[in-house]
Amino acid sequence: MPENQPTLIGLPYDASSSFLRGPAHAPTAIRAALHSSSSNAWSESGLEIVEGAAFTELGDLELPPMDEARRLIEAGIRSIVERGDRPVSLGGDHSITYPVLRAVGPVHRNLTVLQFDAHPDLYDSFEGDRYSHACPFARVLEEGLAKQLVQVGVRTMSGHQREQAVRFGVQTIDMRAWTAGERPRLDGPVYITIDVDGLDPAFAPGVSHREPGGLTVRDILGVIQTLPGPIVGADVVEVNPSQDPTGVTSFVAAKLVKELVSRMIETR
Ligand code: MN
Ligand code: MN
Repeated sequence: MPENQPTLIGLPYDASSSFLRGPAHAPTAIRAALHSSSSNAWSESGLEIVEGAAFTELGDLELPPMDEARRLIEAGIRSIVERGDRPVSLGGDHSITYPVLRAVGPVHRNLTVLQFDAHPDLYDSFEGDRYSHACPFARVLEEGLAKQLVQVGVRTMSGHQREQAVRFGVQTIDMRAWTAGERPRLDGPVYITIDVDGLDPAFAPGVSHREPGGLTVRDILGVIQTLPGPIVGADVVEVNPSQDPTGVTSFVAAKLVKELVSRMIETR
């Protein structure tokens, strides 16, 4: 097996969601889409993204719906990082990204986190919970787990979060800036976190927080496919199968996973 092998791991946890539960069922739904015979396994750049050859599959972590989940997530991701591989996590709500980066961040100097999201997720605390899915990047930046955070697709910036963004030096390319043509320019190691609600609900309706006016699937693919890398880890979070009757959102997530893994290999 080559070094830096992309490694899929499911994180079925949604107990830090503020509105609806459901993302705990996403890893199963995304894997079903990824393995569906409705499409083939080839990425757009011509790599065959099959289990064993292109990526390792670890299955799901068993996670209780309580604080202890964060410790288990951090330990699970650390075991991937410590053998030199690169985690691709299937969420789960967005709170999982903080314990994931507790394991990934300290291994890489000058790490950039690239976040696709309708929401900044920078609350110091949300409804009394500092580990809510509305807070992960406040924790990440407080602990210095990344050198910088670049956000794409944001369209719900509140006053408090704007202050947090200034405090932490966050680069936010909100939807208006994106539409005006602003793009992330990144070099060095990157961790990519894709909250699928960053997409317009027309493309990805199966989420807990539908926020109109968002990105297209092609917008996100375009960024992934042109990143210089290396991509040292990634997650796809906030798919909510209970809100996704046609299953299209799981197919979108599976497509993103396939292209993430492909780019991870190309920039290895
Ligand atoms: Mn989010
Ligand atoms: Mn979001």
